[in-house]
Amino acid sequence: MRDDAEFPAATASADASAPACDAATERDPGTGQARPAGREFKARGSFVERCDGCRLPVLNCLCPYRVSASSDIRVWLLTHPYEHNKPTNTGRLIADVLPQSEIFTWYRTAPDARLLERLADRRFVPFVVFPDDQPDYQHRVVDERAVTSAREDGFIPVFILIDGTWRQARRIFRKSPYLENLPVLPLHTDRLTRYRLRKPASASHLCTAEVAAELLRKSGEGNAADVLDDYFDVFNESYAASRIYHKLDRPTAAMQRLLARRATGSSSLQLFPSS
Ligand SMILES: [Zn+2]
Repeated sequence: MRDDAEFPAATASADASAPACDAATERDPGTGQARPAGREFKARGSFVERCDGCRLPVLNCLCPYRVSASSDIRVWLLTHPYEHNKPTNTGRLIADVLPQSEIFTWYRTAPDARLLERLADRRFVPFVVFPDDQPDYQHRVVDERAVTSAREDGFIPVFILIDGTWRQARRIFRKSPYLENLPVLPLHTDRLTRYRLRKPASASHLCTAEVAAELLRKSGEGNAADVLDDYFDVFNESYAASRIYHKLDRPTAAMQRLLARRATGSSSLQLFPSS
């Protein structure tokens, strides 16, 4: 969940062949096909060469720093359709670090069948991660102790993270009947956002990857939280530098830690080859 009015998703595609604005199209007299008018609108960054692996500009590619961690807690992302194409989306970072994560697309009228199947699976105890600031669902609010006891009872705790802007997240939370009876897990933290790629309305509004890292840490998954935090920082720094066409010339502290994890490896770490 986050604020981001930076650009509408439909124009944020990494694909340089993304359609231009409807109003700016005209017909090709030869083919009858619509074609862009002379003043074609292009999303910011459309012409940037991007890595196929991480979708970041190749100038500062994220792939060498990709490390996965194991965790007893799963993450299911319930992602607004507009988020999927945004290269600035941070939900996907979670799926890189925690390979058992699942990503579901939210549609108002058609719940994802695979998600409904997961919700009915008794092995899992899912929590909807959401602020506890409205009175009507206070009876559903729990804290990290509920996560710990689910794990101790032999279940697999799951964080359902709603991935979209704050406005989209509120809508998804309110308009999804299959979330209505699930416990609500709010994140209470003093942490301020370090996300530099979209401008938040408030520094206390964390982006999706930051929320996941904080909740993992509070729930006793410190190693996974550290890896995700470092990976997020590298994403953040690399992307921000590429926007001003700056190549990072030496590894940041977070980069060095991730490279060290890749180099040493351990039973709690799985390594991905560089792509
Ligand atoms: Zn890459």
